[in-house]
Amino acid sequence: MATKLPSPPRVGMVSLGCPKNLVDSERILTQLRSDGYQMSADYAGADVVLVNTCGFLDSAKEESLEAIGEAIKENGRVIVTGCMGKEAEAIRARFPDVLAVTGAHQYEQVVEAVHAAAPANLSPYLDLVPDAGLKLTPRHYSYLKISEGCNHRCSFCIIPSLRGDLVSRRPDAILREAEKLVAAGTRELLVISQDTSAYGIDIRKEPRMWQARAVVPHMTDLARELGRIAPWVRLHYVYPYPHVDQVIPLMAEGLVVPYLDIPFQHAAPSVLRTMKRPGNDAKVLQRIHEWRRICPDIAIRSTFVVGFPGETEADFQYLLDWLDEAQLDRVGAFRFEPVEGAAANALPDHVPEAVKEERYARIMEKTAAISAAKLQAKVGRTLPVIIDEVGDEGATGRSQADAPEIDGQVFLRDAAHLAAGDIVSVVIEDADEHDLYGVPAS
Ligand code: SF4
Repeated sequence: MATKLPSPPRVGMVSLGCPKNLVDSERILTQLRSDGYQMSADYAGADVVLVNTCGFLDSAKEESLEAIGEAIKENGRVIVTGCMGKEAEAIRARFPDVLAVTGAHQYEQVVEAVHAAAPANLSPYLDLVPDAGLKLTPRHYSYLKISEGCNHRCSFCIIPSLRGDLVSRRPDAILREAEKLVAAGTRELLVISQDTSAYGIDIRKEPRMWQARAVVPHMTDLARELGRIAPWVRLHYVYPYPHVDQVIPLMAEGLVVPYLDIPFQHAAPSVLRTMKRPGNDAKVLQRIHEWRRICPDIAIRSTFVVGFPGETEADFQYLLDWLDEAQLDRVGAFRFEPVEGAAANALPDHVPEAVKEERYARIMEKTAAISAAKLQAKVGRTLPVIIDEVGDEGATGRSQADAPEIDGQVFLRDAAHLAAGDIVSVVIEDADEHDLYGVPAS
């Protein structure tokens, strides 16, 4: 039976007041979009309405109170944020039904209130942000969405039928958002989209001015500009097009984190063909070797589907042998599951569940062994690490090879003096299958 996907909750937003408030509204909506929410242009279609208030003048306060009253009347499920959050008691006295009241610039709390009021149904089939129990993104890293939709038609995927063909955001709008995020404390930008390498193909002839330079909407140009704005820029969901080669020198230069998240999905040519994915696995291997020659520290993360319809034991073995050769740093694997509406459901020769399980266990065992050996080779080196959390026992952070929530961590001792968001040099003392252990370099 095909898996039916839940529809995402919708959020309405009424934003009042000055440009600073508007920036907060954008920040909140960006976070909610990353968390799997959709926006509603009217009260009727919203599961919850946010009113971002202004309290600068009495007239602005009155306008804000009227907006809250209207939202309660038209929708009933209302969260109040912004400057009038200071007057939470007065708001609650007048509107006892408001779900939550938070203050200005407290975007984490607003987003948390939305999660509580209308929980997002994150789906690994649709959403780009990892579902780690919907943990809020801390201030020091942020997801930056550069486009929506996709021009590919992978047979297991329903994104193009739901979200349509690729629509890229203007490069100047992305760079402005990146600048705001960095000004608000972001140290690491995680670039996401359904297909990051296709960025700009729909608006290629429309360069935009940014800081007196014309920026062409192309992944390489955008990555270079983002690298000038944020200390760490990490590229996710890159499709293995030939032009991906152009970002590797930026990684060698240190402008972009030497990390590529390329969901290869499989290696066997016949499976890639039925998946409708690019099929030249030998060329991909050659390119991986070339990337490592230019940028020896590059970490390559990928995901694979096992048990795809028609996958034979020989195809699966081909994938395992390919992985031996490719030596990918990080691998996630999924057992094929038919998703309602996907073309692959109609393919012949579905693989029995027990065989999927067995192949899943084998690929995980193989990739864990590769990961353990690669991490062991880092023991004794000094690596840059971004700090995620500091506690009594030490700190946790991530090396450049680790994206938040999906890859490994670096556990640090003697790190009480550090703070979240610090980027420090760490001497690696030990390693296991997925994580590293170290101490800040003196
Ligand atoms: S490239 Fe990604 S989003 Fe596009 S169709 Fe394939 S799997 Fe879906």
